[in-house]
Amino acid sequence: MQFKKINFSKYSSIKIGSTLEVALLNETNISFQGYFLIGSCNNTLIGNNPPKLMMLSKKYDYIKIENNLLHIGGATPSGKVASFCKKNNIANFEFLSHLPGKMGGLVFMNAGLKEYEIFNTLVNIRTTSSIKQKSEINFGYRFTDINEPILEASFELSYGYDTTKVEMFKKMRSNQPSTPSAGSCFKNPLGDYAGRLIEAVGLKGKRAGDMEFSNVHANFLVNHGNGTFDDAIFLIQEVQIRVYKEFAIWLECEIEILDINYMGKDSPLKK
Ligand SMILES: Cc1cc2nc3c(=O)[nH]c(=O)nc-3n(C[C@H](O)[C@H](O)[C@H](O)COP(=O)(O)OP(=O)(O)OC[C@H]3O[C@@H](n4cnc5c(N)ncnc54)[C@H](O)[C@@H]3O)c2cc1C
Repeated sequence: MQFKKINFSKYSSIKIGSTLEVALLNETNISFQGYFLIGSCNNTLIGNNPPKLMMLSKKYDYIKIENNLLHIGGATPSGKVASFCKKNNIANFEFLSHLPGKMGGLVFMNAGLKEYEIFNTLVNIRTTSSIKQKSEINFGYRFTDINEPILEASFELSYGYDTTKVEMFKKMRSNQPSTPSAGSCFKNPLGDYAGRLIEAVGLKGKRAGDMEFSNVHANFLVNHGNGTFDDAIFLIQEVQIRVYKEFAIWLECEIEILDINYMGKDSPLKK
């Protein structure tokens, strides 16, 4: 098996984690059992005791048009897709110019901005075992039931790249911090906003070491430089407990916590 050394304090968007050996998934090595799959770690917090990690090899970084569909490899970065669509006048992917991640992670999370979600124009995915049509996948807000590595995603192809949408997505980002983070820390509970609840319990701007629930947008857990996993977990738990005590709402993490002590149904982060 091939491995790649990755320094997660540089690689992950929240800039936390040590240097770890990550197994590479390529065609000759398709067994992923026992590994946790990562993309570009824009939605991931690496812990002090991470599970064994795996990522798709460069082989899955491609974009092609075939049979009137757009086929995108699971390791293709969102920025590359956005540039390809701009260059080729392709519609519906403008939001990817402001949404970091690789195609596998974007599909697994059903990532999006407001009503613009990656599943909107998805046709099917190719996983390590089969091709799955969209109708065979359960998906919703930042959720899918996909339980295998996504090697490729195929989308409807329509033309008409819309620069006004790019401007609109840029504006949507303007109330969010530019300090390193992993995006929204908690999922919005039905009919409410995690940011509003964090602010309501007085934890907007709450800091532990270099980690902070941002003063700019309360649902962004930001790293001012030397933030640690322990500081991040302390703040996440503080918010969950305070919001639960005051509103009887348990905020579910949108960020994936990759630490064996905080994964699974017994995790202290799950009520
Ligand atoms: C500043 C900032 C702003 C953000 N704003 C938004 C936003 O507006 N909307 C939004 O939806 N998200 C947002 N995010 C989160 C992030 O962009 C998305 O969740 C994105 O989909 C993460 O992709 P990734 O490749 O980094 O995945 P990772 O963080 O590496 O992984 C996320 C999950 O995807 C799974 N996964 C990764 N690759 C694969 C694969 N090939 N096959 C199967 N599963 C896989 C992992 O197992 C993990 O469970 C933001 C993040 C940042 C840093």
